[in-house]
Amino acid sequence: MDIQEIPVEGYERVVRARDPKSGLHALIAVNDTTLGPALGGMRMWPYANEAEALTDVLRLSKGMTYKSAIAHTGLGGGKSVIIGDPAKKSRELFLAMGDFVESVGGKYITAEDVNIGIADLEIVKERTGFVTGLSRESGSSGNPSPYTAHGVFLGLKYCVERVFGSDDLKGRSVAILGTGSVGSALARKLAEEGAEVYAHDLNEERVAELEKNFGIHRVDEETVLSMECDVFAPCALGGVLNDNTIPKLSCKIVAGAANNVLLEVQDGTDLRERGILYAPDYVINAGGIINVAVELLPDGYNEEEALKRIRRIPEALKETFDLAESEGISTAEAADMRAQQIIEEARARRSQA
Ligand code: NAD
Repeated sequence: MDIQEIPVEGYERVVRARDPKSGLHALIAVNDTTLGPALGGMRMWPYANEAEALTDVLRLSKGMTYKSAIAHTGLGGGKSVIIGDPAKKSRELFLAMGDFVESVGGKYITAEDVNIGIADLEIVKERTGFVTGLSRESGSSGNPSPYTAHGVFLGLKYCVERVFGSDDLKGRSVAILGTGSVGSALARKLAEEGAEVYAHDLNEERVAELEKNFGIHRVDEETVLSMECDVFAPCALGGVLNDNTIPKLSCKIVAGAANNVLLEVQDGTDLRERGILYAPDYVINAGGIINVAVELLPDGYNEEEALKRIRRIPEALKETFDLAESEGISTAEAADMRAQQIIEEARARRSQA
């Protein structure tokens, strides 16, 4: 396998692997390990070329640094991408990927991400110990989605309290876009607390099931975005809030699980100017990474410890919102600023020690 360094300013290490035998062409980016080893998922995607994959892995690994900093996981940020068609996975490919992860010497720890499942990681694990998020039966932390949903639920309640003066969800209206693993768990929790929940998903069956079992109202895509409601909860893909959609919103709060909800930094400012409280994506959706990070504690995975740490998400949101108010900036900018502060403080402590 041919492994080469790609020097990128602001990143501790970026490496490329090419292995003609297995067909592996992959990148690992270690953005920052000031707070601990760089944890971040492994993604497989048919990128048009390596430059596109590089842009993605750089952006995603930096996002992981910020997310872990604010969530106080004790970890840094990293990510890996395999360039290729997920329909053409093979055992050889993931064994080679395991060797690649191992070659970074523990500075990068991998987990699931888009198009990578537990079965793939089980193969990676044959070649490296730097793998998290495997099954509970194997002593790992298991599926992160319920923990992400729990964190989003607690964060959403905090946003409701911040805007309306009480976190009581009875009669509060929430419009959810995307009822997959996280969105459906969130919908259930909200309905159980008495919220009026409206939802849309490309997969109609998912919403129909929630409608039948939990009294959730099924709406179309246009309605879920534009309806008058207290909270809009994006739980599908990223980029959903942009120049086109922000003017349509009639909610007071945006709080959901989706990553990269804002298409551009400016969208955070636009939400602020419209008087909509935005819970920054990586602050409110950190429940999954918090759960995984507990796996790396000296005593291993412990659900109670994970839930205790997830209960701090509202506090992280409070700090972010307070900073945005005092600096007169958007909450999205405040989250980045707060994450940078946490990393800088750790660097300063380290250089004094
Ligand atoms: P998922 O794939 O289980 O669910 C996504 C749902 O969104 C699917 O039901 C899909 O049909 C729907 N969807 C996609 N595009 C849509 C569209 N244009 N209109 C309507 N519905 C659409 O994914 P998930 O694990 O529930 O994650 C949801 C979001 O939360 C993603 O952005 C993910 O990156 C983010 N996130 C997830 C976790 C986690 O632990 N799973 C952690 C952090 C962030």
